[in-house]
Amino acid sequence: MEGVEPIRRKNGRGYMSPHLSIKFDSHLFSIDTSKSPKNCIQPDAYLITHAHSDHYGKSAMLSSSSIASAETARALEIRYNRKYRGRTFAVGESIQVGEVEVKTFNTGHTIGSTAFYWETEVGARILITGDVKDYSALPKCDFLVMEANYGDPWDASCIFEDDLASFYEAFESGASFGAYAFGKAQRAVALIRAIGYQGEIGMDSQSLALTRELMNESEPLTEISGNCPNVVSPWNLGQVPGFNKFILTGRNDVTYPAIRLSDHLDFRGLMHMVERISPREVLIYHPEGNRARLLAHHLKQCGIEASSLGDVENFFL
Ligand SMILES: [Zn+2]
Repeated sequence: MEGVEPIRRKNGRGYMSPHLSIKFDSHLFSIDTSKSPKNCIQPDAYLITHAHSDHYGKSAMLSSSSIASAETARALEIRYNRKYRGRTFAVGESIQVGEVEVKTFNTGHTIGSTAFYWETEVGARILITGDVKDYSALPKCDFLVMEANYGDPWDASCIFEDDLASFYEAFESGASFGAYAFGKAQRAVALIRAIGYQGEIGMDSQSLALTRELMNESEPLTEISGNCPNVVSPWNLGQVPGFNKFILTGRNDVTYPAIRLSDHLDFRGLMHMVERISPREVLIYHPEGNRARLLAHHLKQCGIEASSLGDVENFFL
């Protein structure tokens, strides 16, 4: 798009780094990107959409130019045991980067997950979604940078609905659940509390630290226990007594029975999101692999100007 230029970075050996920057007017914003080495061009800001490892906050959090929600910053600190050195905001507030006002929106993917929005000097509206579960709060834009975790139109596993009925049925039967410590675990606890359960929930140490800190739970959370339901990282499910266990996931390659509970939009949701946001151009930047390319291809067939990160030809060292 005129005046809006995506750029990637190559490392010293010529390989692409986990990097995307958007150049506009006299500014450079990096998106879910590892921190640039000292001798490289430095962005005005590192926008961190959320604290999942494949969005590189572990690295960007060490820069004073990083920008993340207060919850994302805290989750990064707990996950990586290092200090977040950037600036924070409350999701829904704006944050100023030089003369650019960056607006923030909730995407419902994790606690604190954020979409970023700003306008260029000539009024082009840019929206960066990060990973999305709920697009209802997102504004319309001209240039959309989005994910495609379940963006393959030809893969049946990219079409799904959350199976809340099975989750609650399992919970009533006394089951324990495997859920990733950041994101899914808090969602599971919220669902369990939503039906009025006020008793203890057992968790492994990282899930416990993240959930206590991010949810301000007034109801009891405890260590893994045979006397209450547990929500633990999938690899710790073996430590939970008993046999009534499920993994909460959108994937189907797991070692316990799975209950489909995803933190992402499925393919149909992604398409509805694009329709609602009605951009003039789409860049799909995440995840690595084929799905970004396949969704871009599909959007083009639908008459929308679209590309994926692999199509970005501008780069710097
Ligand atoms: Zn994520």
